[in-house]
Amino acid sequence: MKADVLIIEDEQELAELEQLYLRREGVQTTWADSAEKGLALLAEHPYDLVVLDINLPGMDGFEFLQQFRRDSQIPVIIVSAREADEDVILGLGIGADEFVTKPFAPRVLCARVRALLRRSTVFSGEQRTVYRFGPYELDYEGYNLKRAGEVLPIAVREFEILRYLIEHAGSVFSLQEIYHTIWGQEYGDISAVSVYVQRIRKKIEEDYHDPKYLKTIHGKGYLFDREQLL
Ligand code: CA
Repeated sequence: MKADVLIIEDEQELAELEQLYLRREGVQTTWADSAEKGLALLAEHPYDLVVLDINLPGMDGFEFLQQFRRDSQIPVIIVSAREADEDVILGLGIGADEFVTKPFAPRVLCARVRALLRRSTVFSGEQRTVYRFGPYELDYEGYNLKRAGEVLPIAVREFEILRYLIEHAGSVFSLQEIYHTIWGQEYGDISAVSVYVQRIRKKIEEDYHDPKYLKTIHGKGYLFDREQLL
């Protein structure tokens, strides 16, 4: 089954670019050039994911989300030109699942789409991979983190950072490297990486001041202790 993605974007050129890349990933796409048209399409058809621009003519992305979230839990990726929008949306508590800041590399959007679709189990084609450490299990297919079989809430970026470090367990990565890989951008506020690492530690470490799994290598960065992988 092909995943079906609705793109709500008023800039035709960008919408075409997004469609081009997502189709290459084997995803079906539909384009709406306004939030109103998007809502009408969503009422007619069960899409798997929405890629949403914030700055739109008529109803904007914030209003769209508020209305849409009343009766849908379909994943939404916000594509916004302003990083501040992320704070506004988080502040409003209206669920967006991911943020991509414009301008972005299309592969970054594709990676986010893939990750979210995998999480909502629509996307297939990748082999199941599970990593275990201590009482924990990081499951790519279910796109979740479990402790003793119980699913723990984990944000997409936390998952991606943890996965990246686990996949390369034993290697040290600088904040810059992690930022570049996970955020898909060369420059930006790399201190965000430490914030996410702290959040991950609070989930997986017994004593997050003295981490057993996700370690700090002073002056170098972070590494996942290879010895801890089961
Ligand atoms: Ca726009």
